[in-house]
Amino acid sequence: MTRSLAGETVGVLGLARSGLAAARLALAKGARVYASDLGTSPATEAAAEQVRALGGDADAGRHDAAKLAACDRIVLSPGIPRTVPILRDPAVASVRVESEVEFAFGLLDSPVIAITGTNGKTTTTALLSHLLMTAGQDAPAGGNIGIALSELAMRDPAPDVAVVEVSSFQLADTHRFAPQIGILTNLAPDHLDRYPGVAEYYADKARLFANATADSRWVLNGEDETARGLPGGADGWRFYFRVASPLEPGELGGYVTDDRWLVLRMDDGAEEEHLASTDELRILGTHNAANALAAAIAARLAGADAASIGRGLRSFEPPAHRLQPVADRDGVLWINDSKATNLASTQVALRSTHRPVVLLLGGRHKGEPYTGLLDDLRGRVRTVLAYGEAAPIIQADLSAEVPVERVDGGFDAVVRRAAEIARTGDVVLLSPACSSYDMFRDYEERGRRFAELAGAA
Ligand code: ADP
Repeated sequence: MTRSLAGETVGVLGLARSGLAAARLALAKGARVYASDLGTSPATEAAAEQVRALGGDADAGRHDAAKLAACDRIVLSPGIPRTVPILRDPAVASVRVESEVEFAFGLLDSPVIAITGTNGKTTTTALLSHLLMTAGQDAPAGGNIGIALSELAMRDPAPDVAVVEVSSFQLADTHRFAPQIGILTNLAPDHLDRYPGVAEYYADKARLFANATADSRWVLNGEDETARGLPGGADGWRFYFRVASPLEPGELGGYVTDDRWLVLRMDDGAEEEHLASTDELRILGTHNAANALAAAIAARLAGADAASIGRGLRSFEPPAHRLQPVADRDGVLWINDSKATNLASTQVALRSTHRPVVLLLGGRHKGEPYTGLLDDLRGRVRTVLAYGEAAPIIQADLSAEVPVERVDGGFDAVVRRAAEIARTGDVVLLSPACSSYDMFRDYEERGRRFAELAGAA
């Protein structure tokens, strides 16, 4: 807790978890604080009250443009888009805006490992934190998962290393964010509801590399041309992970051998290090072997030895709502993959099983055509159950090629219908490729409801 913000006035937009943490951090660093949120829920009111109790100023239910205009900078919570009307107010528009991650990074006394990419961020972040802790380091996970980075910046003593998941929205308003190690898991279209196109989405992801130095270490997907190319000419060392083929001559990083071992080659002269067999992992599917390698390379770069990385890989449990088996009854396996909110993640979910699948697909449409699923559905899917706002689009995109049944009448009816259709040996897979906001508060609520109903089905 060395740096001070004494004499500064910090505005905070949004009073959910990250915003509240940023306000508390700013106050702890001696700043004057004005925090506001348009929401009026009891949680928002309580957050505003907490800021006031700590000596700050806060509003729930309104933004005070004059107070925000008087701030030296405004910290934006990840849930609030850069396009909110209050930031276009002429008085407020000239104040520097930064994301919560950027703000906390400037006040953090720990080195940072940042993880971004379209899919696999949370799994890789949680796994990397687990690997480093298995190796004896204090390496909490934060950012987009669990604890806000501002919380980690308030820890005393500071963590040995902060393992930080960053979304494209959080990267968007960074200026000085400079992780010592950065992981890019993969890139695929996503969030087309919030970006004009993929180019703009990828451009935000590329901000990971914006402040690269010669000492930066980049862990990149060697088999994803877009991800490989994203750093362009950024300074720093590059390490690659590959699951379908060995590393190319001259490449450093990790790969999966023919007999399915995860192996690291971190130094040209040094021997390769065998970590664990993929059969020993509790996270399933080839995509998770990629996540495991990405985390293992970063852990090795952060000082963990190969033996403790192997131990950590074997003991890591899959995070909830990510290809998580939740019930196995009468020969039918129910899998909760509620976090699959785009096409690419539903594709890998389908590829991770060889059993016939009853697929629950639907929710709020995010912009990609579902025809992209056809190659993975053909020959594998018993029936697609299309539901929610996206149901008519799903039906139009898929029904000429695979069996699709539209289910109206709410999510419970969809799960009931799945129970009727599924036969012994089948998998009922909730991997919806859509957001949950038409029916649920978030993907976690959707996944929990699925698990409850699956247990009772
Ligand atoms: P994120 O935090 O990026 O959303 P998660 O680790 O939460 O990623 O996983 C979300 C979903 O994405 C999983 O349920 C799985 O279906 C899919 N997924 C996970 N890792 C990968 C990967 N490396 N490549 C493609 N899809 C993945």
